Amino acid sequence: MLIVMQHGATAEEIGGVVEAIEEMGYQARPMPGKQRTAVGLVGNDGKVDASRLEGLPGVLEIIHVSQPYKQVSREWRSENTVVRLAGGVAIGGDDVVVMAGPCSVESEAQIIASARAVREAGAVVLRGGAFKPRTSPYAFQGLGKQGLALLARARDETGLAIVTEVLDSEDVDLVARYADLLQIGARNMQNYALLRRVGRTGKPVLLKRGIAATITELLLAAEYILAEGNPNVVLCERGVRSFDQATRFLFDLTAIPLVHKLSHLPIIADPSHGTGLRDKVIPMARAAVAAGADGLLIEVHPDPAHALSDGAQSLAPEQFAELMRQARAIAEVIGRRIAEPAEVA
Ligand code: PEP
Ligand code: MN
Repeated sequence: MLIVMQHGATAEEIGGVVEAIEEMGYQARPMPGKQRTAVGLVGNDGKVDASRLEGLPGVLEIIHVSQPYKQVSREWRSENTVVRLAGGVAIGGDDVVVMAGPCSVESEAQIIASARAVREAGAVVLRGGAFKPRTSPYAFQGLGKQGLALLARARDETGLAIVTEVLDSEDVDLVARYADLLQIGARNMQNYALLRRVGRTGKPVLLKRGIAATITELLLAAEYILAEGNPNVVLCERGVRSFDQATRFLFDLTAIPLVHKLSHLPIIADPSHGTGLRDKVIPMARAAVAAGADGLLIEVHPDPAHALSDGAQSLAPEQFAELMRQARAIAEVIGRRIAEPAEVA
């Protein structure tokens, strides 16, 4: 529920509303705005009796948020949230942000070559998993802490911001020391302890849609992070499981305009996992930009044939450069731009 204060409501009147909400057993989140202040009421799972708040001095109106998710909904906040990473990358504004790099960090030479290639082509964020969620326990699990150190070296070399996955609550502090954007993978979208834990870091979080998650479940997962006081969440459509084995996942691009309607949070698209097929990545990246995605997450490897994970969906550097050229053209048609490295470094 949102308690909207009158224009010019005094600090005392706002304090009175906060006090009343706390006495009712809920938490109050004052949200000063350009025109007027609103006070969010959180901690309820159902309708709250607003009669006590309606009559308080300075209160203009009460808005009941109809969705099960509250702080992530458009009803709660009408303007788009722009998530800012250290170094100046802004996700959710006019610019479309491209994040690219290998599925996994494999070696110093591999991650540095990847970082240089994706920066050269125009990416502003380097991706690379140090802790990998693999279907088989015998598959390459990532270099762990050593992989994080290599990502930091690649950031020093190129100025690119880093997005990397945190798999486990135990590793959150460690990964947060290296990552500019903490990735929560599809398999962990409903790991509520982990969501709460990354919420408490206050760091920007990239939350990927679970392979069998509805849009409502995705937004409720984001709500866990916002409920811890961290508004810096970027959502990611990466495909859902379907009956059809022709592609690795079913890349649900309708999620992009749906989420934009329901939430103020930015949403990016991952056509690499979404299709699982290298030759489908460029067309679906074009489609994602056309659908309004606030960014792209693309797997790029200097030598895809020898990648330790997800080689079949990884682009070679020259293919990624072609993707960037096409994405720039599509962005222009819809009145957006692809963020350029020189402007954010
Ligand atoms: C990844 O980004 O490499 C990854 C494991 O993604 P997802 O969680 O979407 O499968
Ligand atoms: Mn991958």
